[in-house]
Amino acid sequence: MDIKFLKGVGEKRAEAFEKIGITKIEDFLSFIPRDYIERISIKDVFKYTGKNVLVFGEVIDIRLPRKSSQPLTVHLKDNTGATEIPIFGASEFRNKQFRLKDKFIFAGKVSDKFYYGNNKIEYRDHLKYDANDKYFTDFLKFKYIPLYELSGVLKKTFVKPLLLSKIVFNAFRELLNHNFNLVDETLPANILLQNNLISKKDAILRINFPHSLEQVEIARQRLAFEEIFFLEIIMALRKTSMHNTVKGIKFEKDFHPIIEEVKSVLSFTLTSAQKKVINEIYKDMNSERVMNRLLQGDVGSGKTIVALIAILIAVNNGYQTAFMCPTEILAEQHYKTVSDFIGKINQNRTDENKIKVSILVGGQKKKLREEILQDIRLGKTHIVIGTHALFQDKVEFLNLGFVVIDEQHKFGVMQRARLKQKGENPDTLVMTATPIPRTLAMTYYGDLDVSVIDELPAGRIPIKTAIRYDSDKEKIFDFVKEKIREGRQIYIIYPIIEESEKLDLKSAEENFKILKQRFFSDYKIDMIHGRMLWYEKEDVMQNFKDKKIDILVATTVIEVGIDIPNATVMIIEEAQRFGLSQLHQLRGRVGRGAEQSFCILIAREENNFENEDYLKRLKIMEETTDGFKIAEADMEIRGPGEFFGIRQSGVLNFSSMDLNKDKDIVVKAKDKAFKIIEEDPQLRKPEHAVIRKSFMNNYKDSVYLMSVA
Ligand code: ADP
Ligand code: MG
Repeated sequence: MDIKFLKGVGEKRAEAFEKIGITKIEDFLSFIPRDYIERISIKDVFKYTGKNVLVFGEVIDIRLPRKSSQPLTVHLKDNTGATEIPIFGASEFRNKQFRLKDKFIFAGKVSDKFYYGNNKIEYRDHLKYDANDKYFTDFLKFKYIPLYELSGVLKKTFVKPLLLSKIVFNAFRELLNHNFNLVDETLPANILLQNNLISKKDAILRINFPHSLEQVEIARQRLAFEEIFFLEIIMALRKTSMHNTVKGIKFEKDFHPIIEEVKSVLSFTLTSAQKKVINEIYKDMNSERVMNRLLQGDVGSGKTIVALIAILIAVNNGYQTAFMCPTEILAEQHYKTVSDFIGKINQNRTDENKIKVSILVGGQKKKLREEILQDIRLGKTHIVIGTHALFQDKVEFLNLGFVVIDEQHKFGVMQRARLKQKGENPDTLVMTATPIPRTLAMTYYGDLDVSVIDELPAGRIPIKTAIRYDSDKEKIFDFVKEKIREGRQIYIIYPIIEESEKLDLKSAEENFKILKQRFFSDYKIDMIHGRMLWYEKEDVMQNFKDKKIDILVATTVIEVGIDIPNATVMIIEEAQRFGLSQLHQLRGRVGRGAEQSFCILIAREENNFENEDYLKRLKIMEETTDGFKIAEADMEIRGPGEFFGIRQSGVLNFSSMDLNKDKDIVVKAKDKAFKIIEEDPQLRKPEHAVIRKSFMNNYKDSVYLMSVA
C-alpha cells in the first residue's frame, strides 16, 4: 500500500517520507526506535523526576499566559490524579489548541522543580485523543511508546515525535491486518538456535511494540547479531578474495638510510608511537603479502609524517606512490608540506635521484593537467597527491606501488578499491583520526591490519572547551578580539549548507557579512566554503597561514586535516548540528602549537527532546579531549552506520548495534561468518541458502566479492 493512504500521512508527508526512502508501508519494517517513552499514571509522576513520560487524560483547566514569556498551562487529569503541563512559546494558535474536556496524550519531562501539591510536566509533544480513531485504543494497551529518529524533511511537514510513532504504529497494524508475510527470515535455523536468538519477525514486532524493556533488549540483540553477521560475511569475503589474488610487492631495500635522510631534515624527533608504527608498516612493505593497513591516531598525533616516510620507502624502491585526500584544501596543504620537505631532501641528492611531487585536483587548467598526467604516465612523478581526481580513468601510473588514503572515513570502501586498481596490488595505508573502539575496529575493519599512534607529540596543552549560547555572543567576540591582540588567529565554523536544509540553517554567508560589518569591521576577516574553486580556497588558506587573516569563517570544508598552529580559538556555531566525531575533528584544528587553545561550542536553547539529547552530547566535548572516548559516545548515540558515513542516502539502514554491549555478539557472529566463508566461499551449500538469499537481497554492493572469493 502506498503510504499516503495511511492515517496522518497524505500527499505532502508522503513526499517527505519518499525522500528518506519510504514509499510503501512495508518500508517501515526497517524502522528501529531510537528510544522509548513510558506511559504512566499521573499519581506516579513524582517518581519520574527528570525523565520523559507520557500521560493520558482530560483537560480540566487552562491558564493563558499574560505575557509572551509566560507559559500556557494545561491542567490534565486521569483517574489517578491531576498535573500541570506548562507550554512555553505559546501563540494565538496554541492557546486555542487545548480545550476544556478534550482528552490528550502529552509527552514531557517531569520537572525537578517542585510546587506545593503539584508536579509539573514540561511540555514536549502531544496527540489529541479521538475516540473514533482506533489507534488510541490499541495504543493505550502499550506501556512503552517508541520514538523514532525524526529527520529534517519530516519535520518540515510538521511531523512530531508522537505523530511519527503513531504513523509507524498504523503502518504495522495495516501490515498485520492484511496478514502480510511480514519479513523473511535472514538467518538459518541452526544459527538462531545455537545463539539463542528469536526470529526476525518477532524481533521486529517486539522492538517496535514492546511490553517490557527486557523484550526490547532481546529483540535488539537478535537484530544486532544479524547486522554484525552480515558485515562479517563481507569482511570474510574481502579477506578471502584478497588472499586469492596475486602476490603483492616486496619493498626490499634497507629502510634505514632513508630514515636517516628524513631525520636530518626534520625539525622534531619522532615520538616512540610514530617509530613503532613505522616499523609495523615497514614489516608489511618488506613482505610479499599485499599490505592493507589502517593507521589510527587521534587528531594531531602526527600521521602525515608517518605516511610520508612510508611513501619515501616505496619511492626509494623505485615505485610511484599516491596520497589521496578527501578535500582539495587538504590535498593542497599536504602538497605544500610534502613539497617543502622533499625540497630539503632533494638538496642533498644528485639530480638523477631527486624526487618529484605533483598535485592532482579537480578544476586545474587543461594544459597543466595534461602535463601532470603525462609525468605520472611516464613515471617522472614519484609522489602524486590529490583528491578523488586521482582515480579517474585518465590517470595512468607507470608503476604505482604504494597508496595512502588520508581520513579514510571520508571515503567509501569502493573508492578505496578503485585507487588500488591503478596499480598492481599496491600496498595500502589508510589513515583515520576518528579513533575506533576496539569492538568496532574488529567489526568494520576485519579485513585490515591496524596500527595505532597512541601518543601525542610532547608539549601539547589540552584545549579548553565550553558550551555557550547565542546570548553570549558579545562576550565571546570580546574574547576573540583579545586573542587577536595577542597575535592569535580564530576559526568560526557554520554548519554546511545543504540544499534541503537551506531554510533551517543560518546562511554562513549572511553571518559572515554581519560579523564583518557589525562586529569585526576593524579586523581582517575572510571566508572559505565548499563551493569555492580550489584555487580560491587555496588563496584564502595561504592568506590565513601567512597571518593576513585574523578570523577565518568557514563551513566544514576545514574539518579534516588542516594544520595551522597559530590558530588557537575554534568557535562552532549551531554545534548541536554536528556529530561528536566531527566536532572533535573541528576542535582538532586548534591546539596544534605551544599556546593554550580554546573551543567554544555555541548551542541553541530550545525545549524539546532533541535539545536534551544534544546538550548531553555536547557535554562530552567539555569533559574530554580523548578521541577514543568521544568516538565511543558518538557511536553509542548515532549508531555505527552514521558514524562511518556508510548509511546510504535514501536507503534506511537503522542500526541496532550497541558496541558497548555487543562485544560477545561481535565475537560470535564474526567467528561464525568467517568459518562459513572459509568452508563455503560462494555460499553454495544448501544449508547456507538463507544466508545467500538475504546477502543478495540486502548487500547488493558487496555481492561481487563472492565471485572473487
Ligand atoms: P594528524 O595526525 O592529525 O594528521 P599531523 O600529521 O597533521 O596530525 O601533525 C600535526 C602537527 O604535529 C604537524 O604540525 C606536525 O608537523 C607536528 N608533528 C608531527 N609529529 C611530531 C613530533 N613527533 N613532534 C612534534 N611535532 C610533530
Ligand atoms: Mg591529518
